[in-house]
Amino acid sequence: MIDAYDGRFSRRRAFGLLTAAAATLGGCGAYPSTASPSTTSAQRPAAQDTDGDDPRIGPDEAWHMLEAGNARFIDGTPQHPHSDSSWRNSLIDEQHPIASILSCADSRVPPELVFDQGFGDLFTIRSAGEVLDEAVLGSLEYGVEHLDTPLVVVLGHSGCGAVQATIDAVRGDAQPRGHVAALVQAVEPAVLTVSDDLGEDEFLAASVNEQARRVAEALPARSSSIRRAVEQDRIQIVVAVYDLATGRVERKL
Ligand SMILES: [Zn+2]
Repeated sequence: MIDAYDGRFSRRRAFGLLTAAAATLGGCGAYPSTASPSTTSAQRPAAQDTDGDDPRIGPDEAWHMLEAGNARFIDGTPQHPHSDSSWRNSLIDEQHPIASILSCADSRVPPELVFDQGFGDLFTIRSAGEVLDEAVLGSLEYGVEHLDTPLVVVLGHSGCGAVQATIDAVRGDAQPRGHVAALVQAVEPAVLTVSDDLGEDEFLAASVNEQARRVAEALPARSSSIRRAVEQDRIQIVVAVYDLATGRVERKL
């Protein structure tokens, strides 16, 4: 099996060397490393090699890393990478997450476990039903603009309670109370879009997909900095849905 974790570790190490070199030249890198320079050069991602000095991974590679981590998670062979104290210490002064993830707050969908990632790997924002508000948008903008994450993933999931609550409200079966009403109101357009010819399970699944798709679509529409990043091909926005039963994350868009 190709080991995406080890590949990434090498890239991080490579990045550390580059920033350490920058520090020597008056930059501000903080990664200690003992890898040899020849190793560094060989392990930098091919997609970024052409300009000679950009160690960041691209959106496709970031997604492949998440896919590989999810495969390990499904197989029951997670590596729980980047969870030791030395790695944690290497992140005190900086972070270089490979993706910004907007997922539901559901306790059964923790992105770091689902994608088998560790400290510093994911810039994670969570809200029930992946509902956007100013704080969520601002957090995602921070991930894209300041942390340079090449990938933004909107992650819905099967059996989503926020979406089910919205379905119940739309049908008049139960009305939400308190601030939950704001969540339901935000998810409602997605539910109303889905054909009600579907059976119960299919209707919920289609509503989950539609909600994640709409949120992803709203990101560049509502955030000028995210829109600019998309237009400049600095990021990709991915829609994905996690299956509670199988553990699989399926990319939808
Ligand atoms: Zn949910």
